Amino acid sequence: MTATIIDGKAFAADVRARVAEKVAALAGHGQPGLAVVLVGEDPASEVYVKSKGKMTVEVGMKSVEHKLPTDTSEADLLKLIDDLNNDDTIHGILVQLPLPGHLNEDLVINSIDPAKDVDGFHISNVGLLGTGQKSMVPCTPLGCLMMLRDHHGSLSGLDAVVIGRSNIVGKPMAQLLLKDSCTVTIAHSRTKNIAEVVKRADIVVAAVGRAEMVTGDWIKPGATVIDVGINRIDAPEKGEGKTRLVGDCHFDSCAEVAGAITPVPGGVGPMTIACLLANTLTAFCRSKGLPEPEGLTA
Ligand code: NDP
Repeated sequence: MTATIIDGKAFAADVRARVAEKVAALAGHGQPGLAVVLVGEDPASEVYVKSKGKMTVEVGMKSVEHKLPTDTSEADLLKLIDDLNNDDTIHGILVQLPLPGHLNEDLVINSIDPAKDVDGFHISNVGLLGTGQKSMVPCTPLGCLMMLRDHHGSLSGLDAVVIGRSNIVGKPMAQLLLKDSCTVTIAHSRTKNIAEVVKRADIVVAAVGRAEMVTGDWIKPGATVIDVGINRIDAPEKGEGKTRLVGDCHFDSCAEVAGAITPVPGGVGPMTIACLLANTLTAFCRSKGLPEPEGLTA
């Protein structure tokens, strides 16, 4: 079997186009606004923030960036978040993680108004998702869910294995799959016979951070493989000192067995920013008492 490639880049472009269409249609109610806060000078974070700002503007939303120096005090950061919480032109607030070590991430994230917490990391949103209530849903798992729903239609009754139990990917992913009535297993570094556990799955979501750990012999024939991992490895075939990105799944061997698979790059990655924009639109609609954008929420 050779798997269908789930094209996350095209899917994300479609999500952004749907967001843009809705933003234009709702112009009479105002303009959704997203504020991104970056503390320090982490080059990878700067690239993400720039890309987020560009795409926010492209879908017709207001984009605000706050770049603060590395030595920003917790009090100053909390004051900025409080100002953004009280700013009626801002519907989504994202604090780029990781924060410099002297700042308490939990405290900072939990100071964001949960209604504007478009990353879905606020403890209230975590609790709402865990109890199956309406919440803001973390962007990466939301993107995975959208692709799975698109591919399968209903997920009800399917066996899903999520590899990884982080708060930003693994756990919310498992909650979302459970909400869609999958039978969910979460595997992690202490899981015994992990290959056998994964082999039971109709759906595999790998969010581990270990290059090409999942190989084709772990995959049940016809299963759908969603590869969240982003790992940079040496690529001597491209020349000395060159590198390339790979996922947590060994693409070629998994694609031989799976029914469908997301590539890295070009799979889950592009969906994350698209879902950030979708979440900002959802937050805007909720703040105005408007119906939520169809197909763009969990
Ligand atoms: P974390 O490091 O927070 O969590 C990794 C998880 O993998 C942990 O639960 C850990 O288990 C588990 N794990 C580690 N080693 C093994 C192993 N040998 N077998 C089974 N499980 C293992 O990572 P994140 O969840 O933040 O990210 C995971 C990956 O996804 C990374 O590559 C990251 O770059 C990528 N990512 C991609 C995004 C995107 O937009 N595409 C967004 C976010 C992340 P334990 O808890 O027992 O230690």
